[in-house]
Amino acid sequence: MDEFDTYPLINRELASEIKSLMPASPRVNDANKPVSMWTEKDRLRGYPEATAVVIFRTTGCSWYRFSSCSMCGYFNDISPNVSIDQLKRQIDSLAAFIGDIKVLKVFTSGSFLDPMEFPVNARNYFLEKISGKISKLLVESRTEYITRENLSEFKDSGIDTRIAIGLETANDDIMKNIINKGSTFGKYLNAAEVASKLSMELRTYLLFKPLFLSEKNAIADIIDSISKVSGLTDDVSVNPMNIQRNTLVEKYWKKGMYRPPRLWSIAKILLESRGNDCEVISYPTGGNSIRGAHNDAVDKKLLELIYTSSLEQKFEELEKYYDDTDHGNYDLYLDMENKMPVQHESATMKNRLVSSDQTI
Ligand code: SF4
Repeated sequence: MDEFDTYPLINRELASEIKSLMPASPRVNDANKPVSMWTEKDRLRGYPEATAVVIFRTTGCSWYRFSSCSMCGYFNDISPNVSIDQLKRQIDSLAAFIGDIKVLKVFTSGSFLDPMEFPVNARNYFLEKISGKISKLLVESRTEYITRENLSEFKDSGIDTRIAIGLETANDDIMKNIINKGSTFGKYLNAAEVASKLSMELRTYLLFKPLFLSEKNAIADIIDSISKVSGLTDDVSVNPMNIQRNTLVEKYWKKGMYRPPRLWSIAKILLESRGNDCEVISYPTGGNSIRGAHNDAVDKKLLELIYTSSLEQKFEELEKYYDDTDHGNYDLYLDMENKMPVQHESATMKNRLVSSDQTI
């Protein structure tokens, strides 16, 4: 028996391959500073506004002890040892960074609610530090840490908090045999119920175009997943694939056997998802680059419309652009790719061979 036998939700072979690509020992990063802090716009209070974002440096996701998700390279940012004092120093940096901003999104390279990753002592320090400054908070966690006990601390703090879950897909087969999430849709439903009973809001992240799915099937999976979480979550954030280092997705992409999704497809999802009982947004990380969502040619206008329509929840301009613009070979490629065993990226592969430029 090895470590994988202890977990019933995994595809052993897939999990082993993903694990083999992860660095044997994490790089030593400075644990006194967050991985990153920046400001961006989001609409957590129902309208677009400046939002601070922090990624705390931690010892990483509990799932890394077994394997990782096939698209996740956050293990590149962890540190082997992070003390409570170091976490507190990171929190102090955040408190200084926030300034007048009232909305904050918190990520780690795992789960903010995992007490092994982010000890309760440090979490309480965090809540004390942001109390009175922040009016709306979002924290992300795997479902197993979304418990009444963990959420109660946020309720008691009086800070209006939205819980974010990386569901990725509502399809358990894709979750197990492609994404290697080590979770199920049922676990998501249980976590959503815990949050709902405490009257807490929920954000659901879905992964658009996991490995081994044609873009056509990936669109269908996202639209189906949105319909299944509609009414349970306040919003759904559609995250198109952004290829990260040392991941299984990167391995296939380097072989020319994976292509990130097209921006046209994100527009299609946003337009077709209107009418669900939740907001649907997409802020494509790495959009218009070869590792992120891109059409065959750079389309700054389309990327901007995806952002602004998500932020404003107004889709008329995006719809007009979608209807009036020549999509090139988009529909043809989608049909062709759907008939092929792999998701080739011929045009971008050719570019990559002649240039190290990261843009298309
Ligand atoms: S659960 Fe999240 S942090 Fe953990 S391996 Fe998966 S994507 Fe990465």
